[in-house]
Amino acid sequence: MNSQNNNQNNNDNNNNFFNDNPMLAFGLFALVIIIIFKSFSGDGSFNNIMGNQRIVKTETVKYSEIKQYIKANKVESVKITSSTIEAIAKGGTVRFVAQNVPAFDDKLIPLLEENNITYEGRMGEPLVNELISMLLPIFIFFGIWLFLAKKMSKGMGGILGAGKSDRMINSEKPDVKFDDVQGVQEAKDEVVEIVDFLKFPERYIELGAKIPKGLLLVGPPGTGKTLLAKAVAGEAGVPFFSVSGSSFIEMFVGVGASRVRDLFEQAKKVAPSIIFIDEIDAIGKSRASGGQMGGNDEREQTLNQLLAEMDGFGTDTPVIVLAATNRPETLDAALLRAGRFDRQVLVDKPDFAGRLAILKVHSTDVKFDDSVDLEVVAKQTAGMAGADLANIINEAALLAGRRNKKKIEQSELLEAIERAFVGLEKKNRKVSDVEKRIVAYHESGHALMAELTKGATRVTKVSIIPRGLGALGYTLHLPDDEDRFLKRKYELMAEIDVLLGGRAAEEVFLGEISTGAGNDLDRATAILKDMIMVYGMSDVAGLMVLSRSQSSFLGGGQINNDFSEQMSQDIDASIKATLSERYEYVKKTLKEYDGAIENMTAILLDVEVIEGDKVQEIILDFEKENEMESRMAHLKEEEA
Ligand code: ADP
Ligand code: ZN
Repeated sequence: MNSQNNNQNNNDNNNNFFNDNPMLAFGLFALVIIIIFKSFSGDGSFNNIMGNQRIVKTETVKYSEIKQYIKANKVESVKITSSTIEAIAKGGTVRFVAQNVPAFDDKLIPLLEENNITYEGRMGEPLVNELISMLLPIFIFFGIWLFLAKKMSKGMGGILGAGKSDRMINSEKPDVKFDDVQGVQEAKDEVVEIVDFLKFPERYIELGAKIPKGLLLVGPPGTGKTLLAKAVAGEAGVPFFSVSGSSFIEMFVGVGASRVRDLFEQAKKVAPSIIFIDEIDAIGKSRASGGQMGGNDEREQTLNQLLAEMDGFGTDTPVIVLAATNRPETLDAALLRAGRFDRQVLVDKPDFAGRLAILKVHSTDVKFDDSVDLEVVAKQTAGMAGADLANIINEAALLAGRRNKKKIEQSELLEAIERAFVGLEKKNRKVSDVEKRIVAYHESGHALMAELTKGATRVTKVSIIPRGLGALGYTLHLPDDEDRFLKRKYELMAEIDVLLGGRAAEEVFLGEISTGAGNDLDRATAILKDMIMVYGMSDVAGLMVLSRSQSSFLGGGQINNDFSEQMSQDIDASIKATLSERYEYVKKTLKEYDGAIENMTAILLDVEVIEGDKVQEIILDFEKENEMESRMAHLKEEEA
C-alpha cells in the first residue's frame, strides 16, 4: 500500500514540474526566442552590400582563392562579415563569395591595405565571443530572477529547490532529554505516552489502541515548545524532522504542498519518527479569517495537503506530528478535528520553581561564584519564559567575561535581568543638563508614588542613565513576591497613580510638562479602558463586557467592540475624569513630600542611580523630619 502511495506521489511531482517551476519554463521559452531572433538578425544576409554595382555573376570560391585574387590585384573592393567575405572583381560585374571564413585572420587587412583595395565590414569573431554575446542576456535574466526569487523565498531553499525541500526540512536525531526541559511538567506528562508509542509501536498496534497522530503545543514564544518536541524524539531515539510553517508559504502556488508531501514521505520512510511544524498558524490560519494579501491560494493548498497527509497514514504508522503555535484561536477548525491535531498541550510560562529549575539546567556549563543565588534570580524574573532565562545566564557570562572575571557573580546576573527588562545602558548618549533635570524629577515622582501607594510594586532602582529604545530614565520595579496571576482593583489603581507620578512631578517641581510622560499616560489609559471594558470594574458599563481579548498569549487584539455610541462617549468621559482625579491626588501627594523629591532628584543628578533601599530611607527621613505619620505602603501593610 505504501509503495503505491509513493508512485502516486512521483507522478504528481512530474506533472507539477512546470507548475512548480514556472520561471524555469519561462527561461526556456526566452532562450528559444533569443536563438530565433539571433539567427534572423545576425550577419547571415549579404544582399546589396555594395550598393548599386551591376553585378552579373556571383561565384562561390574558397577563402584562400579570394586571397590569391587580392594578391593578383584582380579585386576592386572587399566586404567582410563575421562569417563570409566577398570580393568584387575589377570591373565590378563579378562577385566572389567565400563562406566558412577562418575565425580570425590578422593578415587579411594588411594585405588589403597593401593592394589599395577598399574594404569594409567586420572580421569574424572567435566563436566563443559570439556565444557569449548570445548567452549574456540569458545569464543576466537568470541572475536577476534568481536574486528576486531568493529574496521572496526568504532564502529558504529558493526557486531551484522548489520541488525539493531537503534544504528546508531539518532532519536530526536530537539528544535532548526530558530533563533538559523544565518548568512545564503538565506538558511533559502529556507527551510521555508518545515516547512509549514511538519506542514500542507494535504493542499499541496489536492492541488496536489509537495513538494521537497530531499534537498541538500551545504557548507563548520561548517556553520550550521546540525543545519539548525534540525531547520526545530524543527520549524515543527516533529521527526528528522540523520545518517552520512560514517557510511553506512560498512565491509560487503549489510549492508548499509539494514540500509537505516531501516532509511526510521522508518521515514515513524512516518511521517511527517525529515531524515538528513550528508556527503552524502561518499555514493553518482559519480560512474564514481571510484578509492577508496574496499567498492565500498557496496557503490553502499547503493546508489541504497537510490535512490530506495527516488523514493519509493510518494509526499503524508510527509517525507523530507535533505542531507549535502561540495563537491557537486563529487556527482553521479543520486542523483541530479528530485524527488531526485533536490534542492540545499547553506549554506555559514557568512558575517560580520552574524558573529555578530552568536556570539550573542552563547553569551546568557556566562557572558561578559563591555569591550566586539562583533563587533570587528566579524570584526577580517572574513572567519570563525559558528562552529569556537561558538568555540571562548567557548575558551574565558575557558580562563577567568582559570584566575579566573567572566566575560569574550575582551582580552580573542581576544586571542581566535588568537589561532584559529595560534594555541596554546607553552611557554614550549625551543628555543635556536641562533634560537630565526633567528626567530626574520625573523618575523621582514615579518612585515616590510607588513607595507610598498600597498595591504598587516597590522600587528596586531608579536611574537616569538612558536605556534601550529611547528611555531617558527608568524606575525599576521587580516583582518581590511569588508569581501573580490575578490583579486586584486597587492594584490596578495603584499602577495608575505610579504612572501619573512622572508627569505630576514635572508639573509640580518644574512648572512645565514634557513629552517624557507619553508612554506612562498611554499605559494608564489602557489600564482604565481594560478595567471598564474587559474586567467589569466600573460604574460606566457595570458587569457588561464590551471587549473580549482575542488571544490570551499575545495580550492584544481586542475584538467585539459592538456597543452604542452613547456607551463609547461615556467610556471616554469616565476615563478622562478618572485620570484627572488621580492626577490631582498624585500632585497633592508629591507636594506634601516635596523635600523627599528634591532630595532624590539631587542624588540622581549627582550619581545617576538610586537603589530601592535608599529611596525608602529618603522618604522615611523626610517623614521623620516633618513629624509626619509614615505613609510608606509596606510599613502600613506590616501593621495591618
Ligand atoms: P519555543 O519553541 O516555545 O518558542 P524554544 O523551544 O525554541 O521555544 O526555546 C528556545 C530555547 O530556550 C531552548 O532551546 C532552551 O535553551 C530555552 N528554553 C525554553 N524553554 C525552556 C524550558 N522549559 N526548559 C529549559 N530550557 C528552555
Ligand atoms: Zn515615566
